[in-house]
Amino acid sequence: MPALAIAQSEQIITLNDAAQHLLGMPAQGRHFITVLRQPSVVEAVEKCLADGSQATAEFLTRENGTDTTYTVSVSPVGKTGIALLSFQDITAVTAAGQMRRDFIANVSHELRTPLTALMGFIETLRGAARDDAKARTRFLEIMGNETERMNRLVDDLLSLSRVEAEERVRPDAEIDVASVVATTLRNLTLLATQADVVLVPDLPSEPVMMRADRDQLVQVCTNLIENAIKYGGKGKRVYVSLRIEAHIDALRARGLVLSVRDEGLGISPQHLPRLTERFYRADEHRSRELGGTGLGLAIVKHILNRHRARIKITSTLGQGSEFKVFLPLE
Ligand code: ADP
Repeated sequence: MPALAIAQSEQIITLNDAAQHLLGMPAQGRHFITVLRQPSVVEAVEKCLADGSQATAEFLTRENGTDTTYTVSVSPVGKTGIALLSFQDITAVTAAGQMRRDFIANVSHELRTPLTALMGFIETLRGAARDDAKARTRFLEIMGNETERMNRLVDDLLSLSRVEAEERVRPDAEIDVASVVATTLRNLTLLATQADVVLVPDLPSEPVMMRADRDQLVQVCTNLIENAIKYGGKGKRVYVSLRIEAHIDALRARGLVLSVRDEGLGISPQHLPRLTERFYRADEHRSRELGGTGLGLAIVKHILNRHRARIKITSTLGQGSEFKVFLPLE
């Protein structure tokens, strides 16, 4: 931890290597103001030298091309009149705070959109469209869709927070993954039929046991297959397979490979690494049109982390995408 001492003469009398590295210039013997130029730090040091009071300040800097933030605590050394400064790197804490603020801003934005639409239609139904039965039916249908979207968003937010809370708890049930996939496919048959998509399963006939959380694996399969149906497109197929592999490179172990492949428009390569971020959408317009929340793959990622599993997404524009999940077998 970087640390340095300043005497009553206002000179830096000693500092450790970490402090030397942080300040990036020879600092021994120099006046502290010429080295620590930031007003809040200067103020804290002046106060400590003047009356021996303790204070903390923020010290912002740039190290190896990234912004870093330190908390500096300034405290007196006994009655010597010397001020001791110690620097603690709080960059990660600051970043977590920023992420939380971004998240709240995103959620508010996501809720605002359907709310604005609802408010507009209510206004219209009270005024201009009051006695127009046809418009009323149409508006009520849109209002129903927007309400469902908000409901899905709240459901997804709750699942995300549950999944995150459990991420460090190892699953302890032995479950049959083949039956999980089969059940999910059955549950989604109607959705596929409505979307004019054919589901093509290729599953082992024997049970495939692994230690996992059944409900969470159902959620992973559901989110991936639902996306394949949504983004795959009318008249296309969605291929779902599960197999055991003796050695999976991504895991350096024996494991299961679950593959969900569609014949849709595909995803541009620049989007692939970011798809599992919350609210990240490769095709904003399409996702909203299809009622997506932008949280499905983020939920998938957290569940897979808990199971020490990996996901690999590959896609060819115009030909389709494949989402492969690698689950380790102990
Ligand atoms: P959404 O609710 O928007 O579908 P997801 O987290 O499930 O959110 O997916 C994030 C984004 O990844 C989607 O908005 C979409 O752009 C892209 N995506 C996911 N699955 C597919 C797929 N099978 N084909 C094309 N794009 C996909």
